[in-house]
Amino acid sequence: METKRFTTNKEDLAEAAAIIRNGGIVAFPTETVYGLGANALDPEAVKKVYDAKGRPGDNPMIVHIARASDIGQMTPMLSPKIVTLIENFWPGPLTLVLKKKEGIPKRTTGGLDTVAVRMPDDPAALEIISRAGCPVAAPSANLSGRPSPTRAEHVLADLDGKIDAVVMGSECRVGIESTVLDMTGDVPVILRPGIVTADNIEAALGVKVEYDPHLKQNPKDETADFKPRSPGMKYRHYAPKADMLVVEGQRDDVKREIERLKKLNEGMGNKVGTILFEEKAFIEAAHDLFAELRELDKEGVDMILAGALSDKDGVGFAVMNRMLKSAGYNIVKV
Ligand code: AMP
Ligand code: MG
Repeated sequence: METKRFTTNKEDLAEAAAIIRNGGIVAFPTETVYGLGANALDPEAVKKVYDAKGRPGDNPMIVHIARASDIGQMTPMLSPKIVTLIENFWPGPLTLVLKKKEGIPKRTTGGLDTVAVRMPDDPAALEIISRAGCPVAAPSANLSGRPSPTRAEHVLADLDGKIDAVVMGSECRVGIESTVLDMTGDVPVILRPGIVTADNIEAALGVKVEYDPHLKQNPKDETADFKPRSPGMKYRHYAPKADMLVVEGQRDDVKREIERLKKLNEGMGNKVGTILFEEKAFIEAAHDLFAELRELDKEGVDMILAGALSDKDGVGFAVMNRMLKSAGYNIVKV
């Protein structure tokens, strides 16, 4: 199929919305990463998203809404805590996992009886969703397993010819996907870290927030009981074509080890790329990680050496979650 290119002007966004309303699939920018949107209430349309991405059918989609009040279509009841989170963080990069209403197709939720919902804060995304007139299921607009797309060109590299249209917006502000927070139990649980951190959520709610234990484990560790509650977190993810190794330790040691390994590997005829973010510049690292992985792939490197960030809890932790998955948990400590 021919993939249409749209700008972010009003007429184009109206056309993009009409495609979604009529059962098609359209990629559009959000503040986190580009999403691939379909009518969340139409199982046929949602199936097209799974097929285009090559996404496993048990990996549920996040449903995007344009007005916080539309959450009533998704879930039967809002606790005071959920209302507080919406007031504090929407529109924005916080996804809430809630009990699902009957009408939401199982296809959208990967067979679960919960639904993940978010209101993005990108104006083009909000315009498309509100004009589509339906909740919009929108996973990241990449081939399953590849780094998430933070620019329109990344979407085209993966999905040109496989989807109805792309809205060619600007680069995404955040660069990593939303924080996913499970609100179905007594304690809020972070299933996927993002730039809305545990500290941010605790400050708003005044209660302790937990991490899904798998987030602090290495799946290669055979003693770990690696069973993430968020189905998507168990898959190989964000992977560049090159082999990737994460070097962990004190900053100076890391830099030295990366230089040493680079020289050795180049001496063997390999093309080596490096990813080394400024210390403590976690927001910038989030913004750049996926784009750098794709750039190094384009350059055709054989090997990527990346310096670990030291943050164990905040935005740096969210970046490390992606970096380690990209590297298939290939880690050396120095
Ligand atoms: P993506 O759409 O690519 O940003 O991925 C969505 C993430 O949200 C995946 O990790 C999903 O497993 C997770 N997710 C979506 N819906 C649910 C749900 N109902 N329960 C738990 N995790 C969910
Ligand atoms: Mg994704």
